[in-house]
Amino acid sequence: MNMESRLALFGVIGHPLGHSLSPAMHNAAFSEKGIQAVYLAFETLDPEGAMRGMRALGIRGMSVTHPHKREVVPFLDEVDDLGRRTGAVNTVLNVQGRLKGFNTDGAAVIRALEEKTTLAGKTCLIIGAGGAAWAAGFSLKARGVRLLVTNRTSARGESLASALSCPFVPLHEVVGCGQDVIIQATPVGMYPETDYLPVPEGIFREGMVVMDMVYNPMETPFLKAAGARGSIAVSGRSMFVYQGAEQFRLWTGLEAPLDVMRGAVETALRKRVLH
Ligand code: NAP
Repeated sequence: MNMESRLALFGVIGHPLGHSLSPAMHNAAFSEKGIQAVYLAFETLDPEGAMRGMRALGIRGMSVTHPHKREVVPFLDEVDDLGRRTGAVNTVLNVQGRLKGFNTDGAAVIRALEEKTTLAGKTCLIIGAGGAAWAAGFSLKARGVRLLVTNRTSARGESLASALSCPFVPLHEVVGCGQDVIIQATPVGMYPETDYLPVPEGIFREGMVVMDMVYNPMETPFLKAAGARGSIAVSGRSMFVYQGAEQFRLWTGLEAPLDVMRGAVETALRKRVLH
């Protein structure tokens, strides 16, 4: 690495961060594009201090992950439309000390799904009512998708459904709701607890498009079960790369090297699953 003073600094804040694939993905992208930059993992429980440090040290861009996506918002100068609607951001851009927040998760869901299907006029069931479900919901609604929401805790699910002006479906009623697309937006199935499904297997149908936001393991039990019934799988890895690609574009103004980013994520995931 060329440690010149022009080296730009980027990173991710969250806690814990041991599992983060972002440094491998973004450092590979910077290297591919010949950008003199380094991306580091900053494990912290202090999002306010992190934002102050970002301004003070001139850190150019920050990814924001669990548990700070909401907590960081009060410390920013501006927030994009999806960030305002969901109350959560996953990206910060530092423009000469002014911190701008963005939510790139919604655009990533759309890009990942549109690799496999058109969206306008389709019906999509969202499983979950956390930050990622909110981002997916608002972005899909803007694409003309009819939505249904289900969630383990009804009150949280109902509040997302109400924000989206769509029906809430209790978990025990989700089979046969007529959806064309399903998005799994809970941590269920995440490594190492990979042995159960958030909804009954009977929900999957041939030709249905099924996305799991969980990306470790790459093929989750949810996607395996969907594939076994003829549904078309969309991996959380795909969404992860697209949310990172949009971050890269916001930070550098350049199109992201998608293949290189995908390769870096797959290599890191393969190592992780083996350990
Ligand atoms: P979150 O805000 O913590 O929301 C968690 C949601 O999952 C809630 O609806 C919660 O239901 C539900 N849930 C948690 N544990 C559950 C369980 N054991 N059984 C059933 N439901 C359960 O999380 P988030 O930020 O929305 O993220 C959700 C998932 O998406 C995480 O796995 C995250 O890693 C993943 N994600 C992936 C990407 C990507 O790029 N691929 C991007 C963002 C997020 P209750 O309301 O009942 O608690």
